[in-house]
Amino acid sequence: MKKAIIIGSGVGGLATALRLKAQGLDVVVFENNSYPGGKLSSFNLGQYRFDAGPSLLTMPHYIDELFELFNENPKDYFNYKRKDISCKYFWEDKTVLNAYSDKNKFINEINKVLKVDKNIVTKYLLKAKKKYDLTKNIFLEQSLHKIKTYLSSDLIKGIFNLYMFQINKTLDTVNQDELKEPHLVQLFNRFATYNGSSPFKTPGMMTLIQHLEQEYGTFVSEKGMINISKSIFDLAKRNGVKFEFNKLVNEIIVKNNKVVGVKVNNTVIESDFVVSNMDIVPTYKKLLKKSYQPKKVLNQERSSSALIFYWGIKKTFKNLELHNILFSNNYKKEFDSIFELGTISDDPTVYINITSKDVVSDAPKESENWFVMINSPNDTGQDWSEIIKTVRQNTINKINRTLNIDIESFIEFEKVFSPKTIEKNTQSYLGSLYGSSSNNKMSAFLRHPNFSKHIQNLYFCGGSVHPGGGIPLCLLSAKIVSELIKK
Ligand SMILES: Cc1cc2nc3c(=O)[nH]c(=O)nc-3n(C[C@H](O)[C@H](O)[C@H](O)COP(=O)(O)OP(=O)(O)OC[C@H]3O[C@@H](n4cnc5c(N)ncnc54)[C@H](O)[C@@H]3O)c2cc1C
Repeated sequence: MKKAIIIGSGVGGLATALRLKAQGLDVVVFENNSYPGGKLSSFNLGQYRFDAGPSLLTMPHYIDELFELFNENPKDYFNYKRKDISCKYFWEDKTVLNAYSDKNKFINEINKVLKVDKNIVTKYLLKAKKKYDLTKNIFLEQSLHKIKTYLSSDLIKGIFNLYMFQINKTLDTVNQDELKEPHLVQLFNRFATYNGSSPFKTPGMMTLIQHLEQEYGTFVSEKGMINISKSIFDLAKRNGVKFEFNKLVNEIIVKNNKVVGVKVNNTVIESDFVVSNMDIVPTYKKLLKKSYQPKKVLNQERSSSALIFYWGIKKTFKNLELHNILFSNNYKKEFDSIFELGTISDDPTVYINITSKDVVSDAPKESENWFVMINSPNDTGQDWSEIIKTVRQNTINKINRTLNIDIESFIEFEKVFSPKTIEKNTQSYLGSLYGSSSNNKMSAFLRHPNFSKHIQNLYFCGGSVHPGGGIPLCLLSAKIVSELIKK
C-alpha cells in the first residue's frame, strides 16, 4: 500500500488525509500541536466556550462530502442550520441593516433602510453571480497550474468575458460606480476582508465573494465551529488515518528531485507522498531549505491578520445577532492604516460574533460569549502589547458609541489573541489569516499551486495555497490534491 504523510492537521490537512484514505492510501498526519484543527480550535474561560478562529460557516456541503466518501451520514456527526440573517450591520449614525439570506428580503431591506432602488441592487447581485459562474470551474475546483485547465472550454469562455471580471477597477471603485449610496458601498466593500485584503486595492472581481454568501447562505454549526474539526478528525480516526501529535516536522527529505519522506526530531520517516498543510512560506524556508525557492510566490504581500478579544459578558443583548458589524466612520483610513502603515486606526470596524445566540450552552444563563475581532496588519515587529492596550480602549469606545451601552462593566472574563499568537499556534507566516493577500489583480494567479513543479510527489493544501484561504477553499485544496495524486 502506498503511504502518504500529511504535515499539519488544519482543516485542509484533515480533509486531504480523509480523501487520500478513501483512495486506499496508508495515511499518517504529523501535528505540532497536542490537538487537531489548527486555526479551527476552541477554549473555555470559566463557563464560557469560544471558537478561537473562524466564526462564519459557508458552503458546509464540502464538509458533508467527507462523510459521504466513507458512506457515513454527516447528519449523525455534524449538523448545521441556515441563518435567516447573515449579518447585522450598525453605523454610528444609527443606521441599522439586517443582511437577510433571502435575496428578495435583503433587497427590500436595503430599499427600506437606505432608499436604494431595488433594480440597482438586483443588477449588482446578478453581475456578481455571472462572475462566479464564469470562474468557479477554472479557479476553485481544479489546479490552475495544469495545462488541461488552460485548454478547458470554461477558461475560453472566461477569456471571452474578461471585461465581466472588472479586474482593472478596485472593488471600491466598482461599488462606488454601481451602488453609490455610502453605507451600501461600505457594506459590499467589506467582502474584501473575507480573504484578508483591502477593498481599495483588491480587484472588482471580488464582488463574487459576496455572491457566495448570498447564494449559498451562512450557517451555524449546532455544536460550534469546533465541531467541524472535531467531527472530521473523529471520522479520520474511525477510518484508519493515523495521527502523531506534538510532532514538529523539521524537514521534507528529497532525493533525486523526488520526495522520500520527512524528518521529525532527527528521525527519518519514509513515505511515497508528502502533503504540506503548513503555511507555504515556512514550508519552503524551514522544511525545504536546500531546495529551489519560488521567490515570486514567497515574496507576495501577506493577508491581514486580526486582534481578537474573547469576552465573557454578564448580560444578554436582544438587538445583536450571531454576526454583527459595527462600521468605522472612515473605511479608507482603516485599510490604509493596516496595509500602508502597519497599524490599526483609532476608529476600527468591530466584528462581534456571539455563538451563544444559537449554541445556548456556550455561555452561562443571562450571559453571552463575545468574540470581538478587529482587522489588523500582520506581524512585522510591532509592539503588540501597546497596540492591544490602545485598540482595546478604542474598541470599547466604538461599541459604547454605536450601541449606546457601557460594555466594560459586563466583561467578566477576557483573553486576547494577536497576530503573534496566531503565528505561534498555527505556524502561519506573520500571523496572516489567509496566506497571501489579494491586493493586486494578478493575485488569484500567483498563489502557490497544489503541487511542486520541482519535486515529484510533493503536494500542498490549506489556506496559503491555491485556491485560497477560508474553510471552503481549504476543503477544495484537499479535493484538488487528492485528484492530482490519484492521477
Ligand atoms: C481569527 C481567524 C478568523 C477566521 N475567520 C474565518 C471565517 O469566519 N470563516 C472561514 O472560512 N475562515 C476563517 N478564517 C480562515 C480559516 O481559519 C483558515 O483559512 C483555515 O482554517 C486554515 O486551515 P489550514 O488547512 O490552512 O490549516 P491551519 O489551520 O493553518 O493549520 C495548520 C496546522 O499545521 C500544523 N503545522 C504547521 N507546521 C507544522 C510542522 N512543521 N509540523 C507539524 N505540524 C505543523 C499547525 O500546528 C496547524 O495545526 C479565520 C482565521 C482566523 C485565524
